[in-house]
Amino acid sequence: MISSQKKTVWFITGSQHLYGPATLKQVDEDSAIIVQGLNNSGKLPVDVVFKPVVKTPDEILDVCIKAGSDTDCIGVITWMHTFSPAKMWIAGLKALQKPCLHLHTQFNRDLPWSEIDMDYMNLHQSAHGGREYGFINTRLRKNRKVVVGHWKDEKVQEQIAVWCRTAIGWNESQGLKVARFGDNMREVAVTEGDKVEAQIKFGWQVAAYGVGDLVAYVDKVTDDEVTALYKEYEQLYDVAGNCKPGGEYHENVLIQARYEIAMKRFMEDGGFGAFTTNFENLTGLSQLPGLASQRLMAAGYGFGAEGDWKQAAMLRIIKKMSEGIKGGSSFMEDYTYHLDPANEGVLGAHMLEICPSIAAKKPRLEVHPLGIGGKDAPARLVFESETGDAMNVTLIDMGNRFRLIVNTLDVIEPLAALPKLPVASAFWKTHPNLADGAAAWIYAGGTHHSVFTLALTPDYIENLAEMADVEFVIIDKNTNVTQFKKELRWNEIYYMLNGSLKA
Ligand code: MN
Repeated sequence: MISSQKKTVWFITGSQHLYGPATLKQVDEDSAIIVQGLNNSGKLPVDVVFKPVVKTPDEILDVCIKAGSDTDCIGVITWMHTFSPAKMWIAGLKALQKPCLHLHTQFNRDLPWSEIDMDYMNLHQSAHGGREYGFINTRLRKNRKVVVGHWKDEKVQEQIAVWCRTAIGWNESQGLKVARFGDNMREVAVTEGDKVEAQIKFGWQVAAYGVGDLVAYVDKVTDDEVTALYKEYEQLYDVAGNCKPGGEYHENVLIQARYEIAMKRFMEDGGFGAFTTNFENLTGLSQLPGLASQRLMAAGYGFGAEGDWKQAAMLRIIKKMSEGIKGGSSFMEDYTYHLDPANEGVLGAHMLEICPSIAAKKPRLEVHPLGIGGKDAPARLVFESETGDAMNVTLIDMGNRFRLIVNTLDVIEPLAALPKLPVASAFWKTHPNLADGAAAWIYAGGTHHSVFTLALTPDYIENLAEMADVEFVIIDKNTNVTQFKKELRWNEIYYMLNGSLKA
């Protein structure tokens, strides 16, 4: 079930009066058929809404302004069936405040070899009409997605679907509220950043709360509520013997249940979609929220540890983009390496907070001492990740801009059992290999924290970077470190200048 079903993408077809009413009527009908075809494909997470063909600068400006003010509309797909002189698009594109996809398609797939005449040629002009329209987007330095191919082609529909899902994430990003329980971990650099710039670029409202504000919610949770939630844990997880009623650690589990209820209520009351904690800021709480944070991630909330609000917001957006598709997503940290040259890999984990949406099997509910922070032993879910294609995504603040970094991964089974590891984990092979992948990530300034996802592919993050107009770099099977370092240096120059180029 996709909760974003009410959202829409508008389909806008460009033309002009030159062709006369009969041709324009045909253009209108063809567009409506494409819209119907996209909606019936079963691939798109939103409804595509047909808009009458635009033929003048005023009509173009009008539909672009209306798309911007329609709260259900999360983006526009534009198509040039015929030639639509692109000066007509300048005012509209400058006014357009929603993500834009340029579908460079043609109504008919094949040339009608034996029948083709000039009437046919004059109706099916996408091949050059799309180039005229593309020029003005480029001349305006307008970020957009270009998808090329026949509209019935599954690969084309899949690209449109990915872009629509990204637009759902972008829509979620606007006004996304992040609650920070406490501040950043002291002296840590990469989890810091410019929250004002993040609000300007991504729309995030990031606000800190004293842990005492959360404690007030914890104190109001009733014993009955805690007992009911614990029963849910017993159904969903393999609860360790010493965590069950009467066991040494049962009370520690109940405390996490109390936190979970309190944090959820706090976030519902404030309309928050993501949150952070910090084990250094726990005054009034006896444990670091572990199980509670894991459960809230599984419920769809973004999370960042040690005050990492950027990854918390990114996790929320990634969870929104991937609603209804296979594969989980979690807060993650590159924790410990296996540096055997014949079989190297990364063990990803965190002190506690990994989302059970990535679990391969039923998680175990356990309690262990934390080792740092001086607090009581926290309850947590312990499991290993599902295997498969995945990626780590992170967002850093470069001082003059944000940079989104993606590293693709193969998640594999751990090479041996991990009987003493008291936390959830994932074991992966970094692309292109550990040495080059980690070096590139480090040259790019990538965090130790990331959003790990088995659900999405790099296209989503590339699309998102275009929508937000922030830097995007990818480390994958094709990455060459020497070339990658040059890209980072070239980007430094580009991002110093690009503001002056924008229309
Ligand atoms: Mn951490």
